[in-house]
Amino acid sequence: MYSTTFVTDRSPWKVDAELAAHEKCHRDQQWNQHDLLFPMLYYRAEVIDAWIGGGCNRYEEAADAASNGGRGYTC
Ligand SMILES: [Zn+2]
Repeated sequence: MYSTTFVTDRSPWKVDAELAAHEKCHRDQQWNQHDLLFPMLYYRAEVIDAWIGGGCNRYEEAADAASNGGRGYTC
């Protein structure tokens, strides 16, 4: 997800409802809330939550929770 655009190498018919819901959360709850700060916040969360903490990026967890595991994000 880059701003309001979901970029993928998947064919459109292979984007299921759960993945669409996951990306919609990134757009509606994250990009639209933080605007241009979001990439920096996302990267910071990746460092703190995943690299240092050994867990999942909080923004990916939120999007997965909002989409019933739509991306199937594994940490
Ligand atoms: Zn995601």
